Amino acid sequence: MMSRIEILAPDVRGKIAAGEVITRPVSVVKELIENALDAGATRIDISVDEGGKRKCSVNDNGTGMAPDDLARAVERYGTSKIHAVDDIERIATYGFRGEALASIAQVSHLEIETSDKHHGSRITVHGGIIKGTAASCRTQGTRVSVTDLFYNLPVRARFLKSAQREKQLIIDLIREYAAICTDKHFTVTTDDREALNIPASHDLAERMRLLVPRPIYEMFMPLTVHIGGVQIAGLFTRPDFQERHRVTFLSINDRPVKYPRLYRTIVHAYQDPKSPPAFVLHIRVPPEQVDVNIHPTKHEVKLRDERYVVDILSESLKKYIVTGSSVFTKRMDDRTYGTSEQRSDVHHPQFIQDTMMEGPKHYAVQRTEHDVREFWQVHDMFVFAQTRSGLIILDQHAAHERIIYESIMQGKCGSQRLLFPITLDLTVEEYHTYRKTKIILHDLGIDFKEFSSRTVVIDSVPTDTRVNRDDLVPLFRDIDGLGNLIKEKAEIAKVVACHTAIKAGQRLSEIEMQNLIDRLFACEHPYTCPHGRPAVIRMSMDELAAKFGRT
Ligand code: ADP
Ligand code: MG
Repeated sequence: MMSRIEILAPDVRGKIAAGEVITRPVSVVKELIENALDAGATRIDISVDEGGKRKCSVNDNGTGMAPDDLARAVERYGTSKIHAVDDIERIATYGFRGEALASIAQVSHLEIETSDKHHGSRITVHGGIIKGTAASCRTQGTRVSVTDLFYNLPVRARFLKSAQREKQLIIDLIREYAAICTDKHFTVTTDDREALNIPASHDLAERMRLLVPRPIYEMFMPLTVHIGGVQIAGLFTRPDFQERHRVTFLSINDRPVKYPRLYRTIVHAYQDPKSPPAFVLHIRVPPEQVDVNIHPTKHEVKLRDERYVVDILSESLKKYIVTGSSVFTKRMDDRTYGTSEQRSDVHHPQFIQDTMMEGPKHYAVQRTEHDVREFWQVHDMFVFAQTRSGLIILDQHAAHERIIYESIMQGKCGSQRLLFPITLDLTVEEYHTYRKTKIILHDLGIDFKEFSSRTVVIDSVPTDTRVNRDDLVPLFRDIDGLGNLIKEKAEIAKVVACHTAIKAGQRLSEIEMQNLIDRLFACEHPYTCPHGRPAVIRMSMDELAAKFGRT
């Protein structure tokens, strides 16, 4: 169907462009700080009054503009950032449309004061009309002040939220940029009061300490991956983190973005927990790999090879954060770390960080005690072990269940002949269940000999399990309890793991404890038993210190 085409008058055109990009004070602030960052500023001071409705101003120490550029800056399509159509394929700056200042100028009273270090200049624009230009004594950087936003668009002005709400949006926005541009100093003043002051930081961890609540910060683990052209740098909460929060920072090529598919990838890598992880994630890809030109506000971007990035992210999360975040190993060469006291305990397990992870220094809390026992078994139920960054506590049964479950499911463990085979006299139902499942059970490492009617003898069980007769008597009753799930190998494996794992109440030797820990952390999902209950919990030195009020 053809529609009638109307050509809009020039003043309307200007306002429509504004309608796309400039919808509220926070969009003004976003454009202004992006300009400041594009100009190479290292310090950006933002000041807003009445949530920005009355005034937003952004002051930077960037390169500034020459006096004869200034008028072009506020003209539509005036930009220094791209020159040819092809440049759009390789955007390395935040801005490129040359529309922001023009759009803002259309709907406000705008004043810019700038200096390219040689000449200072100033321009005043009201509703898109230049009211004056003048020299200024400014010596560096740029200050852009926007007052009375939408003074000439009362309808739009009415759509704004309360000053409090608009102010919060601005603060959230600055926090997002602060999480990305960690080496810049940001301040926000609202109605003459300092609302944020974030000095330049050395790295992401130091920056995030200023931006997220402490209980979340303390659960953060670093992830740094560089594969192909994809760079991932982030902090992710440990898999046992269970707090409610809304801490998710995501950027692509330094732009804060919403990217639901990446968010889902992360949550999924954590096996869709009840409380999703908190994280800050910065992804960088070559500029031509990301399309930023799909939305005027650039909140949404499109990765051209989305699948590739998703896979790298998902795999590295699983490997370094969710499961193998820290690999438990015996130290082969104790000279590789630590002090001389530490060298004495040759078999002390250590969390070592993979070479792909560059953890900030403060994540590594060094052991200070020496001459400690390696492991403690508490009430024949829990195993405590000291780690490089604190301690871990295993539930011996749950941990062993996890180990057995994974090894029998992978068919890796083989079976061991029992010195004293275990004879079971089965009920009719149990015998029936036995007939239905003996092939799966054989796959899982349990072998039987059939005797007379309804008497079977278990003569092999999976290796490294601990069984006695009493543990196995209820085996078929419990398998039968699976109901329809009886055909599922994984479900049967859970029952087998439960019946063959170390129980609470069993005393373990030092070697057995060591083994349990090593093998648990070699599992794909060490944090839970196959039924989803925790198998291990960790406590960092920071958490312990906090509990004792040592901050
Ligand atoms: P864009 O950022 O898309 O180029 P803008 O309308 O935001 O368009 O800005 C127009 C031009 O004005 C920029 O290309 C830049 O040359 C100049 N400019 C704007 N803000 C600043 C600033 N804070 N410091 C230096 N130059 C600036
Ligand atoms: Mg811009």
